[in-house]
Amino acid sequence: MEYVNPEGLRLDGRRPMEMRQLRAEIGVVSRADGSAVFEMGNTKVIAAVYGPREVQNKSQQMSDQALVRCEYSMANFSTGERKRKPKGDRRSTEISLVIRQTMEACILTDQMPRTQIDIFVQVLQADGGTRSACINAATLALADAGIPMRDLVTSCSAGYLNSTPLLDLNYVEDGAGGPDVTVGILPKLDKVTLLQMDAKLPMDTLESVMQLAAEGCKAVANYIREILLEHTKQLEVRRGT
Ligand code: UDP
Repeated sequence: MEYVNPEGLRLDGRRPMEMRQLRAEIGVVSRADGSAVFEMGNTKVIAAVYGPREVQNKSQQMSDQALVRCEYSMANFSTGERKRKPKGDRRSTEISLVIRQTMEACILTDQMPRTQIDIFVQVLQADGGTRSACINAATLALADAGIPMRDLVTSCSAGYLNSTPLLDLNYVEDGAGGPDVTVGILPKLDKVTLLQMDAKLPMDTLESVMQLAAEGCKAVANYIREILLEHTKQLEVRRGT
């Protein structure tokens, strides 16, 4: 199948290095300490953060740092093509772990000893790249909750189809059987905190695909900064300052 046509356009009309449309909203779950919706094209996820709060299971309490927990799930209606269970299966467990480790790299856990931070992320609409969208939503939700972080953490994926590196794969491109490289970065510190790949990729192309995904992460970081700035301005207006 042709994933990039002779005019250089992908199936959804994007250029190879073009990301899907981003959209975000902060403060969507009023009971949570922080929350956000994040969309990358037709992939739409929601994140809610609770904490720092008392550790529920005292045996897990740590005297020198906060306990970070993360739960990833897919809503029953998020996809027409359910291959696995929406929650509690191996894929969800793995993605929960990956997101937790990625978020832990940016949270200043040592500033909140003996507490617990819960991050819930749920896929509302799945069209590829849900783990990246969840990381981006979790970053916004953590910022909304006022959790101290050393940097933002943002994520994006890139693939390699028809001998062309492609940014931010959608479901059809993801299912093409080619490599899918998901990267997470701390943009200000210029550090990679997450690198995952499925399928094989020649060594000489790995660098360029990874670089492309990292560029996508930086574009997401710029967008997230804009959204946070906008949100802060709105809060100031509401407070009348
Ligand atoms: N997907 C699905 N049902 C499932 C699992 C995955 O429809 O039970 C779709 C969904 O669109 C997802 C894509 O397959 O985004 C790719 O899944 P993958 O495991 O590669 O993770 P993701 O790219 O979402 O991080």
